[in-house]
Amino acid sequence: MNLIDTHAHLTYDGLAESIDDVLERSIAAGVTKWISIGTDAEHNEKVVSLAEKYQNLYACLGIHPHHASEYQPLHIQRIIELVGSGKVVALGETGLDFHYNFSKQDAQKDLFKKFLEIASLTRLPVVIHSRNAFEETMRILENYADKTTKFVFHCYSGTIEQTREIIHKGYYVSFTGIITFKNAEIARDCVKTVPLERMMIETDCPYMSPEPMRKQKINEPALLVYTAQKIAELKGVDIETLAEQLERNTKEFFGI
Ligand SMILES: [Zn+2]
Ligand SMILES: [Zn+2]
Repeated sequence: MNLIDTHAHLTYDGLAESIDDVLERSIAAGVTKWISIGTDAEHNEKVVSLAEKYQNLYACLGIHPHHASEYQPLHIQRIIELVGSGKVVALGETGLDFHYNFSKQDAQKDLFKKFLEIASLTRLPVVIHSRNAFEETMRILENYADKTTKFVFHCYSGTIEQTREIIHKGYYVSFTGIITFKNAEIARDCVKTVPLERMMIETDCPYMSPEPMRKQKINEPALLVYTAQKIAELKGVDIETLAEQLERNTKEFFGI
């Protein structure tokens, strides 16, 4: 089995110090490729270095909406430079987080639009973080995004109606361990709603360990298997078939 963790923060504390062991456990579990996600200028540099070191590890560069207020034009300039380094396969995470509002909403929107511009220039797909901001996210995508850019809604947990809208627009959806949580009935209904060919999966580690490992404080790529098992069960397919389809989707989306 070859699962791909499409959203991991492998440069964060808890994972970065023991990255060799983390990746070894991941491979042993059947999770053999990783997209490491940048969230600010510092982590974007680290993500690129990590991707240069490990063959099956790829870089995705972004500025998280939480950090939108700290954004400086030189950060974007640097991202554009780093895109040329070869292992950068996508932009993000970028988007809107109106749940925490750690940055002003206007700053978040401006930065999100800026990323959509770079996506259009670089022809890279975009990993979107959208929390409590569904309508505004869709409006910005509709008005500012290049129609040929590919988008994935990461760590997805929306309503069935929103899920249908995302699929209708041709975007992708990526699920985390949330779908294994006891009270996540709606998230499981969303899994049933999303066609297999429009789906990807991720840990979003070091956060959100899936059941039955939810007590493990630091989530890691090896635990992606539990999320895959749950999705296979919900979709009524065997895990090998699911893994093959997810691999196809992920390779097509990120061009890896
Ligand atoms: Zn996120
Ligand atoms: Zn993330």
